[in-house]
Amino acid sequence: MTIDPDAKKWLVSFLGANVKFDEPMSRHTSLRVGGPADVYVTPETREDLFRIIRGCREKGLRYAIIGGGTNLLVKDNGIRGIAILLKKCFNQIVQTGARGDDVIVTAMAGSSLARVCRFATEHGLGGMDFALGIPGTVGGAIMMNAGTAYGSMQNVLDSVNILLPTGQTGKIEKQYLKFDYRKLDIAQGCRYIAGNIPDDRGQPVILDGQFCLHPSDPGKLKREAEEILQTRKGNQPTNAPNAGCFFKNPDLSAISDQWSVTLENGQHLTRLTGVSAGRLIDLAGLRGKRIGGAEVSAKHANFIINRDNASAADILSLAELIRETVLKIFNINLETEVKIIGE
Ligand SMILES: Cc1cc2nc3c(=O)[nH]c(=O)nc-3n(C[C@H](O)[C@H](O)[C@H](O)COP(=O)(O)OP(=O)(O)OC[C@H]3O[C@@H](n4cnc5c(N)ncnc54)[C@H](O)[C@@H]3O)c2cc1C
Repeated sequence: MTIDPDAKKWLVSFLGANVKFDEPMSRHTSLRVGGPADVYVTPETREDLFRIIRGCREKGLRYAIIGGGTNLLVKDNGIRGIAILLKKCFNQIVQTGARGDDVIVTAMAGSSLARVCRFATEHGLGGMDFALGIPGTVGGAIMMNAGTAYGSMQNVLDSVNILLPTGQTGKIEKQYLKFDYRKLDIAQGCRYIAGNIPDDRGQPVILDGQFCLHPSDPGKLKREAEEILQTRKGNQPTNAPNAGCFFKNPDLSAISDQWSVTLENGQHLTRLTGVSAGRLIDLAGLRGKRIGGAEVSAKHANFIINRDNASAADILSLAELIRETVLKIFNINLETEVKIIGE
């Protein structure tokens, strides 16, 4: 899709300097790869965002919502249509209510998750500790059901406000949010707001999320936060661009009790309970494996790092090699956790 001159003029007319053309997405993703977006916009007001979404529908333009870009691999030819970043204006965090002893905090989609964690600690509110150290924005974290071994967004999220591709807005309560492992399905919630929305007519935009947190001792929260952040630092590569865990941990429930594998080094495995994607990649002998500028991290085998000016193609080739090798050795098909977009 090319953006015609009229559509460009229309965007510049109300966004001014907040619209760029052919903007390299490598500047806006934590992996530091990705070709240009035809158009890249950073709306500063809610009205501007609504205008963009409504205009895209009227003019038949495609758009993609980008949060912190910390879970995204944008391909080398970039994004056709409009990349919309919400970080500039959607970044307020406020206490908006109470439920019994619990406190409701509303965080706008463009706020960083780190700021929500800090807000909770400073106000003596527990529940966000699982999110400590996860980069990116509230909107991205909600869509990814981001989490750790300590919990995930589904444990604290009470409701979300969304903007539909039709321009309608509405609140989706928890019972209509279908969470899965690193995934949120909001289709049911969208239907609840607006009837049946065809999937191919654009992406619903999370505007904000309401979090239900419980009062706790600020000193204790602060100490726990420091410990968790320290542990994360020790386990993850910090010296090269990456997008966190590249693959989801596999669902091992379907694997037969008879499962057994003998590795090249003679090691015999008969049980896979609790085995993570990183452990499988490690056992497959892929730690440190490199294609072009992309490398399997030596520190954490489920991290693909951009060691040396990698292209998206380098990263995708390495990811495919990992997937094929793990499938061949363990008969387990790893699924990517990182979202792959663009052309
Ligand atoms: C060093 C590192 C460590 C990480 N550790 C963890 C971890 O421990 N646990 C974990 O779960 N993840 C982890 N991640 C991955 C990533 O940080 C999370 O998935 C994060 O929540 C993504 O947020 P984001 O704003 O960067 O989303 P993006 O990567 O920008 O987008 C992710 C998806 O959400 C969609 N999206 C973003 N904002 C909105 C919105 N407002 N409305 C609708 N859709 C939206 C995008 O279209 C895309 O499909 C890590 C990443 C890095 C780089």
